[in-house]
Amino acid sequence: MPFKFHGGVHPDYKKAPDVPVTFITPPPQVVVPMAQHIGAPCKPLVAVGDQVTMGQKIGENEAPVSAPIHSPVSGKVIAIEPRPHPLGDMIPAVVIENDGLDTPCTDLAPLTEEELNDQDAILIRIREAGIVGMGGAMFPTAFKIRGGLGKVDTLIINGAECEPYLNGDHLTMLNHPEELLKGIQLARIASGLDKAYYGIEKNKQDAIDLLNSLHPEQYGVEIVPEEVKYPQGGEKLQIKAITNREVKPGGLPAGVGCNVISTQTAYAIYRACYEGVPCFERTLTMAGSAIAHPVNAVCRVGTPFSYLVEQCGGFVKEPKKVVLGGPMMGLIATNLEAVNIKGTAGILFFTEEEDRTVENPTCIHCGQCLTVCPMKLEPLYMYKYFQKRDFEKMQQYHVLDCIECGCCSYNCPGRLPLTHSFKTAKILFAVRAAEEKARAEAAAKEAEHK
Ligand code: SF4
Ligand code: SF4
Repeated sequence: MPFKFHGGVHPDYKKAPDVPVTFITPPPQVVVPMAQHIGAPCKPLVAVGDQVTMGQKIGENEAPVSAPIHSPVSGKVIAIEPRPHPLGDMIPAVVIENDGLDTPCTDLAPLTEEELNDQDAILIRIREAGIVGMGGAMFPTAFKIRGGLGKVDTLIINGAECEPYLNGDHLTMLNHPEELLKGIQLARIASGLDKAYYGIEKNKQDAIDLLNSLHPEQYGVEIVPEEVKYPQGGEKLQIKAITNREVKPGGLPAGVGCNVISTQTAYAIYRACYEGVPCFERTLTMAGSAIAHPVNAVCRVGTPFSYLVEQCGGFVKEPKKVVLGGPMMGLIATNLEAVNIKGTAGILFFTEEEDRTVENPTCIHCGQCLTVCPMKLEPLYMYKYFQKRDFEKMQQYHVLDCIECGCCSYNCPGRLPLTHSFKTAKILFAVRAAEEKARAEAAAKEAEHK
């Protein structure tokens, strides 16, 4: 029986898992950013003019918190230069002219039967295949699992997919149930554990039934049907739902003996180990009322958003807002020439009518934001002190513990930009910390020279 968490909301899910998965034909040119993970960005391993194969490693960084990057197509490298990144800014990217042949790279052979049961062989393969958290966090998976060894006693696979619109995980469960269970089994073996828990919201009952019909216990997996409530898929809330443990403010899942990986990450582990295919494509959802034909699609990384829009029949209305990820926690995209990366779960194109911003947001002191916050915070006061840039008070009201779930903004009748403000506040705290560190270092250097 899963445990319940405080607060949360029930948004209109607007999901369309009945829209079958289509395969987006890779574009004539892919733009592969050298940063598709948390941690050290990759350095290109290829030069302009080189021929590459599909799945060939084209970027690497030996730093522990990093993940190599592989070519999503076969073809010729025509540029290595800064290009628009989906998370903003210009980031070095390898631009490849697609020859349309998809000539596969054979560097990664499928693991042998023996290796499929070997913890270290699996961990090496997860790293070599460039697998990162595909739920959006993009944390390198091999590092995450290694970091938990000896501390983690519970592996959780996140199948909540609680954000409206997004269907990629649900469809992966329906289309690749056995592969998914094998991927979870591999993650479990890599974690040195006998059992893994797969938390799935009950609004995916078809997937729960299908996975249960395959006897998940033979893979060391237990399916845990969960309450349908946003943000059930938040890492801390998955841990609460499955184990009743609470990650303390500022703490990490490993601190309470848990590791959480996403559904598509588990599927990517299966492909890397059983098929020798590195991480260069994923299932994502393109939706919103500005787009002509919403789709659930398997799509190669490095595909420009403008090309994806064309593949969906273009716009029927001018989008007012483009969101990467779900509407509750997603990030605003500012450039349609940016490309999808390993962590892009969805791209939503919203019109003026779907935009909730108002000219004069006003707090009516209704207290609704307090009742829905799953972290038991007080968004009303956090916002008040954010506006005053009162850092001491913001800290006192635990703004840094905000998981940016968007429940408060969603429920606020005054339409205050609460979550956006807290995201900004956290950035301001990080900037202040960096400035303080630089000042302290400069003072230490000066003292040394005296
Ligand atoms: S929900 Fe909005 S209007 Fe109500 S108290 Fe919170 S901030 Fe104010
Ligand atoms: S304050 Fe943060 S954690 Fe709480 S509801 Fe708002 S966005 Fe979510």
